[in-house]
Amino acid sequence: MGETRENDAYEEELLDYDEEEEKVPDPAVTKTNGEAAKKGYSGIYSSGFRDFLLKPELLRSIVDCGFEHPSEVQHECIPQAILGMDVICQAKSGMGKTAVFVLSTLQQIDPVAGQVAALVLCHTRELAYQICHEFERFSTYLPGVKVAVFYGGVNIKIHKDLLKNECPHIVVGTPGRILALARDKDLSLKNVRHFILDECDKMLESLDMRRDVQEIFKMTPHDKQVMMFSATLSKAIRPVCKKFMQDPMEIYVDDEAKLTLHGLVQHYIKLSELEKNRKLNDLLDALDFNQVVIFVKSVSRAAELNKLLVECNFPSICIHSGMSQEERLARYKGFKDGKQRILVATDLVGRGIDIERVNIVINYDMPDSADTYLHRVGRAGRFGTKGLAITFVSSASDSDVLNQVQERFEVDIKELPEQIDTSTYMPS
Ligand code: ADP
Repeated sequence: MGETRENDAYEEELLDYDEEEEKVPDPAVTKTNGEAAKKGYSGIYSSGFRDFLLKPELLRSIVDCGFEHPSEVQHECIPQAILGMDVICQAKSGMGKTAVFVLSTLQQIDPVAGQVAALVLCHTRELAYQICHEFERFSTYLPGVKVAVFYGGVNIKIHKDLLKNECPHIVVGTPGRILALARDKDLSLKNVRHFILDECDKMLESLDMRRDVQEIFKMTPHDKQVMMFSATLSKAIRPVCKKFMQDPMEIYVDDEAKLTLHGLVQHYIKLSELEKNRKLNDLLDALDFNQVVIFVKSVSRAAELNKLLVECNFPSICIHSGMSQEERLARYKGFKDGKQRILVATDLVGRGIDIERVNIVINYDMPDSADTYLHRVGRAGRFGTKGLAITFVSSASDSDVLNQVQERFEVDIKELPEQIDTSTYMPS
């Protein structure tokens, strides 16, 4: 209770947000959905990364990564973000939000030995690992910049030793472990100049995680840049985000209704619970895919379904929170490297995770909400590529969620036809 009260008091201390402001058109709020529609769904801009006047070392790694043109969200955010402005940003899954904060942080950072200058928090270990990897990729030609990732499930002594002996300038992590390290004074946050929340709605909607985030935030200096990102930012969560910020630039690249990915073909299949395995088998045999993610609703169902697929000789693995951290990460890396082609997973990998070769998502179990649906299917069709999402509907409540998806987002999900043309969902 004491802690809750302290946090409440802290919330008061955070910048006050006036809800009335929402109604007044704000020049700092950028809505570009109409523009995007004119330019085609992928929203790739013709201007180059060079126009952002980034450090040559960064431009070099951008070329190495094969990024030719900034995406719409990058075009909208990077010029402001590199000036140190606070940013709250919503853009479709897979459109390159990560590079916005990775590039703008690396652009601004001036590494000082023994000082953590940037902190990135996200909700799962796999995502933290992926973000750290992005920082490493883009800092190839900035050898003075050190990045580290900290999350639970790893012996904390390893993290403490690393902080003592080889203090990173950029720290990526999950809130629980970051808080533990900061409370124990192994991680000093007093030099943090950039504070970033990825999947910010997810992190701030869960009260436990929000409490951790707030406590960590309190340990950072007042004067810093705060950036937050997600594909879904409901009107309800925006004021909560803004309490951490000072006069942020708000970028909503897409109206909520336009958040579904246009390169993604979406279908449903009505069937009974008992018919699911047979149907899944048939689909995996019939469809062409590079890699597929199958989402289920619980840890035990993930383990069981994976066992069944392996018994049927499908190259499948599963990832869920019931396994050890090493196991989880090893499997995630294996799948990302293409060692298996089928991943059975819970919502643990439903957000943020970027696996280039995934072109099919199957919702074996219906997600619990329209938001979760949107994030899950966004694992296919990344960065404007083609993909296919198939959702099993086996109950009245499943149909309700599917209807909510179609009511909220501009998408017409039709029943899966007998024949589906491979060219509609296989990336060329
Ligand atoms: P988001 O965070 O918006 O869901 P990501 O940052 O994970 O999306 O990016 C999705 C994929 O697109 C990643 O594989 C990333 O490397 C790639 N990508 C991002 N920006 C560009 C770009 N400008 N050109 C080409 N590929 C890009």
